[in-house]
Amino acid sequence: MKVYLDNAATTPLDKEVFEAMTPYLLNHFGNPSSQHQHGREVKQAIESCRKIIAGLLNASPNEIIFTSGGTEADNTAILTAVRSAGIKHVITTRFEHHAVLSLLEHLEKTGEIALSFIAHDEKGNLDLNHLEYLLVTNPLSLVSVMHANNEIGNLNDIEQIGDICEKYDALFHTDTVQTMGHYRHDVSKLKVHFLAASAHKFHGPKGIGFLYCRQGLRPAKLLHGGGQERSLRAGTENIPGIIGLTKALQLAYADIDGHRQYIQQLKDLLIAGLTQTLPGVNFNGNSALADKSLYTVLSINMPSLNPNLLRCLDEYGISVSGGSACSSGSSSHVLSALGVEAGRDTIRFSFSKFNTPEEINYAAAKLAAIYQLIAA
Ligand code: PLP
Repeated sequence: MKVYLDNAATTPLDKEVFEAMTPYLLNHFGNPSSQHQHGREVKQAIESCRKIIAGLLNASPNEIIFTSGGTEADNTAILTAVRSAGIKHVITTRFEHHAVLSLLEHLEKTGEIALSFIAHDEKGNLDLNHLEYLLVTNPLSLVSVMHANNEIGNLNDIEQIGDICEKYDALFHTDTVQTMGHYRHDVSKLKVHFLAASAHKFHGPKGIGFLYCRQGLRPAKLLHGGGQERSLRAGTENIPGIIGLTKALQLAYADIDGHRQYIQQLKDLLIAGLTQTLPGVNFNGNSALADKSLYTVLSINMPSLNPNLLRCLDEYGISVSGGSACSSGSSSHVLSALGVEAGRDTIRFSFSKFNTPEEINYAAAKLAAIYQLIAA
């Protein structure tokens, strides 16, 4: 049996998404910057995708910029705040993805910004009183806080954080790479200036994403070249990617509540299975709490018995992660920030609508069997 439980790393492409993309790989191949029919028809397709995505988020089409994925969207948001809006102080968390943290650390090193971190407790809950304190003492800041953490699944209250940012006139960027397509984001209600998204996290293709950038902010240019994306993002557009991204988001929104209920049941099944069969299992952060964590992620830690645990699971056909895929092979900054003791093994299980209860039961049984075998 092959069981894929690493959907926070990437999700399989939905067949319907693939079918929507193929005409744009085979037939509609024009360059959208060309003035002739072949170019015009794909240009129109891009603009209608922009409208559809904007409609799903309650945004204006000109607030959506297509990017190569989540990393570029996060980078563009931060550089817009720093280089275009003149922000000199950024408030963030120890739990952000490297797409955010590496850039912020770089900007701090080069002296472009000062950086502050919001305090948190041992479960990773952010101290929003501390956020207010940081905003009082540092007017004109950018706040960069992810909606859900990719390693442990902790959800942050971006509505409340947005309200706090508005109170202190701060810009607010939230990395929604793990939640786009899994939760509804309505930018007419959220007090947010930037949202970052990546199609491959919700059954779309890799190498395409978008940035929502609130009207009135002039997006910073990462690439210099042609006049694509209203001269904001140079380079010939990834048309099949944009079509696939849009189809994937439409499919996700069409049954977001149904998928959520189904996937939460899978997660609950795994929590129950592991709690029964795995002595000493703990759940990282808020991972096991339905109202405080992303329903697609379950992160556990347990006494370390075998350094090759992930390989043992792999031999049974089970694909999971030891943290985030991006940091595999090195220690996780998220688990360190949580204070998870050394000498414990961490596994991240992450689910999608394509997983089944049989797969969950199989994974739980094999993990317990590996443990019993080693512990004996
Ligand atoms: N932000 C988060 C929270 C992620 O989980 C990821 C990818 O794992 C990214 C950003 C980067 O997205 P991409 O791989 O599309 O560049």
